[in-house]
Amino acid sequence: MGSTKYVVGIDIGGSGVKGAPVRAKTGALVTDRFRIPTPKPATPQAVAEVVAEVARESGWTGGPIGCTVPAVVRRGVVQTAANIDASWVGVKAAKLFRKALGGDAKVAVLNDADAAGIAEMRFGAGRGERGTTLLLTFGTGIGSAVFVGKKLWPNAELGHIRYDDRICEHVAADSVRQRQHLTWERWGKKRVQPVLEYYEFLFSPDRIIIGGGVSKPGKWELFGPALKTRAKLVPAQLGNEAGIVGAAMAARALK
Ligand code: BGC
Repeated sequence: MGSTKYVVGIDIGGSGVKGAPVRAKTGALVTDRFRIPTPKPATPQAVAEVVAEVARESGWTGGPIGCTVPAVVRRGVVQTAANIDASWVGVKAAKLFRKALGGDAKVAVLNDADAAGIAEMRFGAGRGERGTTLLLTFGTGIGSAVFVGKKLWPNAELGHIRYDDRICEHVAADSVRQRQHLTWERWGKKRVQPVLEYYEFLFSPDRIIIGGGVSKPGKWELFGPALKTRAKLVPAQLGNEAGIVGAAMAARALK
């Protein structure tokens, strides 16, 4: 796995830390992804140890490596903690992971939705779009990635915009559907639809990609086709692998 053809990507989520070697040219996983449950509490140190283990199990031997965090990340430093342990704020994540990996590895750390967006734009539902694209992941929160052509505007936190005096992800995240026992139809029509309309009003995107677990075949059909937007609306194509693939791509782009 020392070859530059493969780059290891790691995706830190609320329930699992997942990783795999990714073929740089095609975005395909070289082996099945390896997963370890996210430690509880998910403190930076505990997560870093798991990241190192996932890296090794994913065949990492020292090349550049990419890792997502569900938070705003600027120059390797975590800035927010809406859905992760509060102790992450201010953590130099790239440095922490490098130390845990036990070497002088180049580590790219980026927001989870940004990583998913990078992967979808290159290999999935965003391919060929020259206008403006919003990728939105519906999960515990609402993640977002904004692209003008192929260029990412990093760390856009659309899930935290207030709509009708409420934070969008508190209204329309998939975790809200589950907690409030909403039907897929009701969640789609009453929660996702108004939030999408508001995003359209603010950003006038040409394409909206819906990602996260809800974009999987079998789930998307339950709410997606009923949504009405001016933008072309499509489900993500890379499913749960998008974060891993995007993380690997970010690592490959490191100078
Ligand atoms: C966080 C984002 C993250 C999203 C999805 C939000 O609560 O603020 O940074 O991308 O959840 O995990």
